[in-house]
Amino acid sequence: MTDYLTEPLPRRRTVAVDVGGVTIGAAGPIVVQSMTNTDTADVEATARQVAALARAGSEVVRITVDRNEAAVAVPHIRDRLTQMGVGVPLIGDFHYIGHKLLSDHPAAAEALDKYRINPGNVGFGEKKDRQFATLIELAIRYDKPVRIGVNWGSLDQALLTRLMDDNAALAEPRTAGDVMREAIVQSALLSAARAEELGLRRDRIILSAKVSRVQDLVAVYAELARRTDHALHLGLTEAGMGSKGIVASSAALALLLQQGIGDTIRISLTPEPGGDRTREVIVAQELLQAMGFRAFVPVVAACPGCGRTTSTVFQELARQIEDDLRANMPAWRQQYPGVEALQVAVMGCIVNGPGESKHADIGISLPGTGEQPAAPVFIDGRKAATLRGSSIAEDFQTMVQDYVERRFGPDAAPAGELPPDRAPADAAE
Ligand code: SF4
Repeated sequence: MTDYLTEPLPRRRTVAVDVGGVTIGAAGPIVVQSMTNTDTADVEATARQVAALARAGSEVVRITVDRNEAAVAVPHIRDRLTQMGVGVPLIGDFHYIGHKLLSDHPAAAEALDKYRINPGNVGFGEKKDRQFATLIELAIRYDKPVRIGVNWGSLDQALLTRLMDDNAALAEPRTAGDVMREAIVQSALLSAARAEELGLRRDRIILSAKVSRVQDLVAVYAELARRTDHALHLGLTEAGMGSKGIVASSAALALLLQQGIGDTIRISLTPEPGGDRTREVIVAQELLQAMGFRAFVPVVAACPGCGRTTSTVFQELARQIEDDLRANMPAWRQQYPGVEALQVAVMGCIVNGPGESKHADIGISLPGTGEQPAAPVFIDGRKAATLRGSSIAEDFQTMVQDYVERRFGPDAAPAGELPPDRAPADAAE
């Protein structure tokens, strides 16, 4: 039944960059990344959040390194993660004084797997070139890749002013928006060219150019992709909270990913007060999975419900199944290779229930209003059982667990066979 990844979407081929053992670029899997919001100087809180993000599926995690105390903490965070059994690559995010922090704290420079540099704030005036060069020399010395991360909120003002002046002298000047987008692209490209002149290998450079509006982001990255083969990190900056942030990020990133642009993504969500930071990882995974680029967790297809079913049983069951699947995934990934491609259906009534359930690996069609209180279960396209009574939800969950073991476990049988010892009593119905 499962058809994920059978026809991979075309990807733009970029220069591969190794970030602590994770490959970003070269049309490899699009890497999910995230960033902590703890004070990096707080070793325990930061290590715990990095571990939570990694366990949720973040393949690299960025931490801010903003002052001496944070830089001192970095190697201890690495050690604490090792004690916790978490080997996720760590990226240091540097602004203004990165050159000094990395020079003064060699243990931090060593412990990090990548340095993020913002060319708009590495320094000002004549210090800018010198401090940028120091950062690149440190990356070369410690053999670390860098992300040259331009952000429109901290765009290189000297470059923007020069381009604005040049534009004003044209007979037909371009719009200020066009010039700003060009300045963002040039800032990334010129900084990458400078880093290469200083001796940083091309396969040690990732670029990003973040803006906060969807159409600007699409235009900037399309232009970057046209002008360079560096690996690209995608993200909409200041995307916002809740559904607004999710929709804006997904819209922008989907448009670019569909064109084959983007080697790693981060969804920058503002967490709700007390909210869970791992939400940004789940959204990134769901975006890549919905588009068919990668499979991370089994998919649960559930109908939206309508007047034909007034009970909330199917909504509750769909939620329960989805939560169970996600909670089981860290263990299942080891135990049941390929389980992330599983498709489950939970449907509300007979209208679309049997049809949708047959298209899933395992699906249940719950009784709608006025229907017989029976729930047929379909496995690999065939009716395998009819569940009745008050324990339909529990029975179906048991069947999903059994299916996973049978289909993806070490003794996996060919799809479609239901071992007699697992067949429910009324499977012959
Ligand atoms: S499957 Fe039934 S309950 Fe669900 S949306 Fe369709 S008609 Fe409504």
